[in-house]
Amino acid sequence: MDNLSVTDWCHRFLSQQISPGDLCIDATTGNGHDTAFLASLVGANGQVIGFDIQQSALDAAGKLLRAQGLIDRVRLVLDSHEHIDQYAIPGTVSCITFNLGYLPGGGHAIATNAATTLPAIAAGLPLLKKGGLMTICIYQGGDTGFEEHDAVLRYLSTLDPKTYLVIASTYLNRPNHPPKPVLVIRLK
Ligand code: SAM
Repeated sequence: MDNLSVTDWCHRFLSQQISPGDLCIDATTGNGHDTAFLASLVGANGQVIGFDIQQSALDAAGKLLRAQGLIDRVRLVLDSHEHIDQYAIPGTVSCITFNLGYLPGGGHAIATNAATTLPAIAAGLPLLKKGGLMTICIYQGGDTGFEEHDAVLRYLSTLDPKTYLVIASTYLNRPNHPPKPVLVIRLK
């Protein structure tokens, strides 16, 4: 066992859930690392839809995906993830990932925020098939602040426990407001 990052933690669960041929969504594509991870798991007959509001992010992701020979199974969409339900049919998606915050290597002015993240999560959950998984990497502190972190956890705690299982993990001994990986599993 190594020094699990918040994305490593989510990737472990995603890799257990995703099968070849699946449809997955990366709600925050950024530089494309999570998109590429999903694309490698869905195989040549699967598909990943990747959202971002920054063309520069999608350009970087496209470059990475082409270099890894994965671009043919990925649809990159320049749109806000709150419109996620316009791109997939309810009950058809194996996994949805959110890696919140700002584009690594980009400016900090453009970042996810509660006003669009909460509608995006709410619109994304019904897209999951039974047993499907949503992972959310939440950051807090520094210039990210606490509003989105608090709002997402508050919202997730209200989900019907018969329909969704929500698990938020904590890095107990890390200083300075460590990130939080969250799993949401659709039970029925
Ligand atoms: N998964 C990425 C990777 O592997 O490189 C990192 C994602 S980065 C932490 C967060 C991304 O979310 C940024 O690229 C940002 O532009 C994007 N973003 C911010 N608001 C968004 C929104 N409303 N809809 C979709 N993407 C958004």
